[in-house]
Amino acid sequence: MVLEKLGDSLKNTLSKIAKSLFVDEKLVNELIKDIQRALLQSDVNVKLVFDLTKEIKEKALKKDIPSGLTKKEYLINIVYESLVKFLGGEGYKIEIKKKPFKIMLVGLFGNGKTTTAGKLAKFFSKRGYKVALLQTDTWRPAAYDQLQQIAKTVNVPFYGTRKAKNPTDIYKEHESELNKHDIILVDTAGRDALSKDLIEELATLHKTVQADEKLLIIGADVGQAAEKQAQAFHDTCGVTGVIITKLDGTAKGGGALAACHVTDAPVKFIGVGEKPDAFEEFKPKNFVGRLLGMGDLEGLLEKAKDAMTEEDAKDMGKKFLKGDFTLIDLYEQMEAMKKMGPLTKVMDMIPGMGGVKIPKDMLKQQEGKLKIWKFIMDSCTKEELEDPSVMEASRVERISKGAGVSISNVRELLKQYKQSKKMMKMMKPGKGNKQMEQMMKKMQGKVPGM
Ligand code: GDP
Ligand code: MG
Repeated sequence: MVLEKLGDSLKNTLSKIAKSLFVDEKLVNELIKDIQRALLQSDVNVKLVFDLTKEIKEKALKKDIPSGLTKKEYLINIVYESLVKFLGGEGYKIEIKKKPFKIMLVGLFGNGKTTTAGKLAKFFSKRGYKVALLQTDTWRPAAYDQLQQIAKTVNVPFYGTRKAKNPTDIYKEHESELNKHDIILVDTAGRDALSKDLIEELATLHKTVQADEKLLIIGADVGQAAEKQAQAFHDTCGVTGVIITKLDGTAKGGGALAACHVTDAPVKFIGVGEKPDAFEEFKPKNFVGRLLGMGDLEGLLEKAKDAMTEEDAKDMGKKFLKGDFTLIDLYEQMEAMKKMGPLTKVMDMIPGMGGVKIPKDMLKQQEGKLKIWKFIMDSCTKEELEDPSVMEASRVERISKGAGVSISNVRELLKQYKQSKKMMKMMKPGKGNKQMEQMMKKMQGKVPGM
């Protein structure tokens, strides 16, 4: 599948973020370039690409990070959310609001109308609807046999009149039988281009059929030209949605998808192969998620939210700003992290991290360390937690015995604490140091050095 290429380049970009040490402007610029390259190669309109990446950049550099998310998670999330919005947001569903529900398929020659009629028939009959297929294509001699064959494959009744001349007559002839079904799928004839006579033919047929949905079928190989086609069909015969077919076989797929979203005719389904079940509802969230190879992003975000309330995070940020970050804060942060579950699991859920090979051993080791540190803190007095500088050798020994850990374990924790504190001091906002203050605000809720 050629779209995999787009997915692969976006995945590489995300793992670049995951692997990098800092999220800074340089990384964001690099990320923007990568995304632009990936989308342009997929034939997405240049202006759309630049609008999208401009939005990603602005968000990545300016907005405060929601509490409970690291900068990296936040950045990955921005890319994900922006791509989803770019392709249509929540997506559109066809609701079968009445019976019979009539769906007419329109489009130019060879885009996949007849094939898609079979796919829709299978899609809806699998969901328990009684579906009928009607052929009204009087232009292509083989159209009748083609749909009849497809109907047999998907096990749905077929209607049509061989050698009839007029699509509307065909419909009328079978109307009463068709009306006994829940869903009537009407296949129509195409042309090489959107001609006047095609529009007239569809308008006349529609007048009689009164279709609830008029779906335009466009092959992904049309690329960004899909926008013009979708808009023209929409303007002249009021299509209610688009189905992009052949997304399995062309580098231009991204172009077609993105182009249609900006028209008034949203993409409702996609075709990803010739077989009847190579077909799915178009849900931008799922589509982008798969493209990026994400793990359970939403699950991760939920967990992050649960683990740290916004208030906690704000307090933390204030403490950072004042510079009185204590071992207790470190302890609380660790507790919050623990609520998120084992590190190995958390890592799996971070989108982009799935592809990054962090040795499980290393994660396990880190987890083990956290456990030990918690034992140590449990053995500390309140005074020691609030001001670890009082911990001279005898206290360290007492704590190590109380916690059942080695002295070097305690020293390691103290070292970690000192490093965090040093880093914090370095970042402490001085007079007129607005930039630093901004940065600190962005770091709200983050444990430095961890
Ligand atoms: P129509 O003229 O619009 O009715 O188009 P057809 O349904 O006859 O399809 C034209 C060609 O496109 C056929 O060879 C189909 O097998 C092929 N086709 C349709 N949809 C898809 C798809 O999603 N993927 C691929 N690879 N081929 C498709
Ligand atoms: Mg056809």
